[in-house]
Amino acid sequence: MCYLAVAMHELSIALSLIDVATEAIISSHSTGRVAAVRVRVGLLSGIDRDALAFSFDVAASGSVLEGARLHVEDVAVTAWCPSCAAERAVVSISSRRCTVCRTIAPRIVRGEELELVGVEIEEDGNETDRGPTRSAEQE
Ligand SMILES: [Zn+2]
Repeated sequence: MCYLAVAMHELSIALSLIDVATEAIISSHSTGRVAAVRVRVGLLSGIDRDALAFSFDVAASGSVLEGARLHVEDVAVTAWCPSCAAERAVVSISSRRCTVCRTIAPRIVRGEELELVGVEIEEDGNETDRGPTRSAEQE
């Protein structure tokens, strides 16, 4: 795969992210400036973080998200271990074995996702979270 194809992939992802984030901002009726957009990217998603950050800046230009930072949280790969009957971390991405019992765990549970976590909006110097989804620790 050539670099242009990779960058086009991330650009289409960045454009979708901006669409979803813009809808969230409009539905929140906020008038503040968008400070940051936070996403979770699985380590198996195949998304290049540098290309995504670059594409986000390009795609955000001229939109309500212009100048916003993109925060990328990595999501570690976990798989369902049939032997432990539990969700476990894997030894490595290439060797999908349970870290506890070393059984092959072929069914990936997490690590392939791209998820919009939230949008941070600055209003009178305060930052608040506005987003379609909120993580458990924020509840
Ligand atoms: Zn196991």
